[in-house]
Amino acid sequence: MENCDILIRGGTVIDGTGAPGYRGDVAITGDRIVCVGDCAGWQGAEVIDAAGRIVAPGFIDVHTHDDVAVLETPEMPFKITQGVTSIIAGNCGISAAPLAAEGELPPPFTLMFSAKKSRFADVDAYRAELARAAPAVNVGLLVGHSTLRVGAMGLDLDRGATAAEIEQMGTALERALAQGAIGLSTGLEYPPSKAAAIDEIVPLARRMTAFPHTVYTSHMRDEGDGVLESVRETLETGRQSGARVVISHHKCAGEANFGRSVETLALIAKAQESQEVGLDVYPYTAASTALLHSFAEKCTDVKVMWSRPHPEMSGRMLDDIAAGWGVTREEAIDRLHPAGAIYFCMDEGDLRRIISFPTSMIGSDGIPGSEKPHPRLWGTFPRVLGHYAREQGLLSMAQAVHKMTGLSSAQFGLSDRGRLAEEMKADVVVFDPDTVIDRASYDDPEQPAAGISHVLVNGVVTLENGMQTSRRAGAFLHH
Ligand SMILES: [Zn+2]
Repeated sequence: MENCDILIRGGTVIDGTGAPGYRGDVAITGDRIVCVGDCAGWQGAEVIDAAGRIVAPGFIDVHTHDDVAVLETPEMPFKITQGVTSIIAGNCGISAAPLAAEGELPPPFTLMFSAKKSRFADVDAYRAELARAAPAVNVGLLVGHSTLRVGAMGLDLDRGATAAEIEQMGTALERALAQGAIGLSTGLEYPPSKAAAIDEIVPLARRMTAFPHTVYTSHMRDEGDGVLESVRETLETGRQSGARVVISHHKCAGEANFGRSVETLALIAKAQESQEVGLDVYPYTAASTALLHSFAEKCTDVKVMWSRPHPEMSGRMLDDIAAGWGVTREEAIDRLHPAGAIYFCMDEGDLRRIISFPTSMIGSDGIPGSEKPHPRLWGTFPRVLGHYAREQGLLSMAQAVHKMTGLSSAQFGLSDRGRLAEEMKADVVVFDPDTVIDRASYDDPEQPAAGISHVLVNGVVTLENGMQTSRRAGAFLHH
């Protein structure tokens, strides 16, 4: 007999590659997997009986704004209870590092809002703080283009950057990548980066070619009427720069654009023949971000999540607030600012098509820190497994798991995670395929999922029989 620390015995192993599950065990010593499959020759100091349950790699949430959340709420219960063991922060153009600027920053920086320290002059400083906080999940960091813009241009952001400023941003990006950041993100729909043309992005993305496995993720310029054009721009940015591209939270927003995912996915599939392209998606038909005029005008139903001057309006519909005040919608938005909102503006058919696209990854885009968050913060991963895979049959469990694990680690260059195999880091989730489901709703969003029993992060049991332990073993993810 060989000895291991933890033996997860008798479950159905879904290894994250997309291959179907099989009856097997997983043995772990320290932070590594030492056996997968028939581990009859192994004896565990601790044994987890997984009979009737699925044993899978820990889920990777490729789309988060948790840069500051991992420091302030290092337990990260909204991730751990979903089976998420790794998060990618710094999406949509905004990252907590490298960000030395003082003073108020415009939306969408407010998505990372925090009373405490939330800006770091470089990735090394962020990493040091992360080590002090010791979060429960692993953290990979993208460098936000809006963050770089603030560093090079201050708050003079309503224009394209000059050649000198692009150079300065490029130097800052290279430095961040050298310190362990894993890519670059943009948020071209948002005011701080709207004025940046493709000529500003390409030279930055091109800097990444010196750093293997890096990725360029983009919250595109337009996810509504201009969505096709935006997909073309994103693909073109990848082609011109040579960077691997990920289209963030892909959607076709606004009723006029319902059904257009047929066209966007065809464009993406065609491009995949000649360049590296991926996309992420969350399993809901409502979006969520800062409360902005440009977003609100595209949607009939807008729900206010939080408002700094009017916290009492949290959870109420924008039109009701405006009616109560006897003002226009526009005036109400101005009074609520800074604020966050949920926008009901997508089609279920598009969502299903995007989720079932073979190379779409699952990313929550969850935004912690408000009283009434979008339910995706607590529900994304179990919703894909329970609702879309089991109940709707849109995907097999193995396909669903692949979109949360092996596919994601391959696209983000996290070579020792996302699969159950010998020598891989021991990030593992155990869940019941018959009961796993999200319980977070728009009205009651802070509800943990059902059916997820065990979560191990780097070999450390972080969720045990559905209850979070006090142990936190997350690491900083770098290439
Ligand atoms: Zn975004």
